[in-house]
Amino acid sequence: MSDQRMAAVRDWMADEDLDALLVSSRPNVRYLTGFTGEGLLVLDEGALICTDRRYTVQAGEEAPGIECGTGKSHLECATGRLRKGGHARVGFEAPHLTCESHATLAEGLEGVELVPCGDQIKRLRAVKDEEELSLVQRAAGIADAAFVQWREWLEPGVTEREAALELERLMVVGGAERASFEVIVAGGPNGAKPHARPGSREIVRDELVVVDWGAVFEGYCSDCTRTVVVGELDEKQREVWEAVREAQLAGIEALRPGLEGREVDAVARELLRERGYGEEFGHGVGHGVGLEVHELPGLGSSSEDELRPGNVVTVEPGVYIEGWGGVRLEELMAVTEDGGRRLTRAPYDL
Ligand code: ZN
Ligand code: ZN
Repeated sequence: MSDQRMAAVRDWMADEDLDALLVSSRPNVRYLTGFTGEGLLVLDEGALICTDRRYTVQAGEEAPGIECGTGKSHLECATGRLRKGGHARVGFEAPHLTCESHATLAEGLEGVELVPCGDQIKRLRAVKDEEELSLVQRAAGIADAAFVQWREWLEPGVTEREAALELERLMVVGGAERASFEVIVAGGPNGAKPHARPGSREIVRDELVVVDWGAVFEGYCSDCTRTVVVGELDEKQREVWEAVREAQLAGIEALRPGLEGREVDAVARELLRERGYGEEFGHGVGHGVGLEVHELPGLGSSSEDELRPGNVVTVEPGVYIEGWGGVRLEELMAVTEDGGRRLTRAPYDL
């Protein structure tokens, strides 16, 4: 599998006339080799994991078959190899290399042209192969199962922070490496903040609670949101919840290859506008998910990223009303040849 991925990178390097590419982003290194440390040199023939001595054993285990070099730092290792000659144009990942690291490279590689590149590997990562899809599916399954147990456990009086920790614990016990991001549990008015951090506020009966969580399985993330109530819904809560659910279903229904991200966003946004909540939906409808929880393609209102089979994206409209609270519902979807397939299956019942 990593051979195909390396081949795709080398095709692109040939187009850009690069003799070597220094990969500094850890998810990108992992994608190409399996190694979870930094960094990697992709050469026109072969590749070299560049690391320091702390990681040689790990690199051997995670990326057998790929040559591994060590130095005082991964940069020293990379410059050492590149100085051996024959490399006139060396690309680096501009979004992932610090100014300081760039200066170190430039100093160590006099006479070599250092070419700033964008995150081409991240673009390749947007389309998942079968193996990746099944890992995301495993992560989603673990998160779903943990949520079902957590719903049984949740009761008024526990704090948001305790509730978030319990959901994370259930995912880890269920086989997750860790949570894919800090679990969000936002009760009552806190639900109006899309990225609320769980605090010491206690969950109160009959209020909406926004829960946003995900698991990591073998490096791959899941991402899902439900909005639940411990007790009964009032009329307004039900009205907002149903509007968000309709918008989400419309977005899910719209998914298909060839569409631009912003077109999916527009479908959900239009539905919320019709229901009178257009102003209260302040973020994009979704994002790609994979080795990182926010990846390409983007599904925001200005995203021109074109959907392709193998993309894994969220559909997550929300309504946020200051002082009242919020509702967000998020599904993780795989884009297929003719539409979308659900990866998250956590129940929606309130
Ligand atoms: Zn989420
Ligand atoms: Zn999300």
